[in-house]
Amino acid sequence: MKRRLFLNLSALASFALFIPKSIAKVKSDPIKSNLNRVKKKPVIISTWNHGLAANKAAWEKLETGGTALDAVEAGVRITESDETNRSVGLGGLPDRDGNVTLDACIMNHENECGAVAFLQEIENPISVARKVMEETPHVMIVGIGAQEFALKKGFEKKNLLTEGAKKAWMEWKEKEDKKKPVINHENHDTIGMLAMDKEGNLSGACTTSGWAYKLPGRVGDSPIIGAGLFVDNEVGAACATGMGEAVIRIAGSSSVVELMRQGYSPEEACKIAVKRIQRKHKNLKNLQVGFLALNKDGEVGGYSVYAGFNYALKNDVTDKMIDANYDLEW
Ligand code: ASP
Repeated sequence: MKRRLFLNLSALASFALFIPKSIAKVKSDPIKSNLNRVKKKPVIISTWNHGLAANKAAWEKLETGGTALDAVEAGVRITESDETNRSVGLGGLPDRDGNVTLDACIMNHENECGAVAFLQEIENPISVARKVMEETPHVMIVGIGAQEFALKKGFEKKNLLTEGAKKAWMEWKEKEDKKKPVINHENHDTIGMLAMDKEGNLSGACTTSGWAYKLPGRVGDSPIIGAGLFVDNEVGAACATGMGEAVIRIAGSSSVVELMRQGYSPEEACKIAVKRIQRKHKNLKNLQVGFLALNKDGEVGGYSVYAGFNYALKNDVTDKMIDANYDLEW
């Protein structure tokens, strides 16, 4: 018995020696905004200002007996169908060639997940992703295959390039070097949503039109389980927004969930993942990434590389925007 205790203690001690300094520092340096530790069930969080309207729809689902999965799907559909939003679904800015191509994924409390990428002319990719999850043995379907699948499931084709988005694209074509997508943080803005229902079950959804004027065929983090979104009902859920390439490189949302498994709060976990992105990239110019996380206690948090990332929080006592903490000023 004693020997086992000793072995456990020495394993712990040697593990402690190998904790990178930056992580150790974050853990002993409690993050100030404990305001976000709401500990309320159910709870919904989602990225950016468009999250407020999305949370409202998600909340209505929860109130009428829907699951967290129903809630996140209903919530982000609002943003997908909002043609004034230039970064998600209908009205999203197109790729370099003027085609709107959409990426989305969804994940529930049983580790079931579905995703679509490079999907065109379908207004609500999140619902197609849910069908992939529930009605196929696969996790991800892309491109023409995803579109054919959607049409078979009763989704309708629609032109997603609105006049406003077309105008913006044509103006971009006039000004920019058309060989390169523009590196501009303002061109990013996914909606990622995480929800916990009355039962305490977690689900998440993530959907985007991706990086404006991207190379045709480019897919970001948003439809990639583990990058743009990850849910582990034993621990918590996380999602990402911003430059998808950087999120993919560190398996972003999965990393945030693993950090919560190690005992970090949602905000601490997001902060450590942000620090990891900063360490792994030599050039941080315009490299905005924001993470959001929700743990099994209903605590929420977010963190971003640069100032400006905010998220919408809804539970039975509040419905508001929160400015995430961050490391760098623009
Ligand atoms: N993460 C998304 C992508 O890289 C875009 C964004 O969140 O702004 O496609």
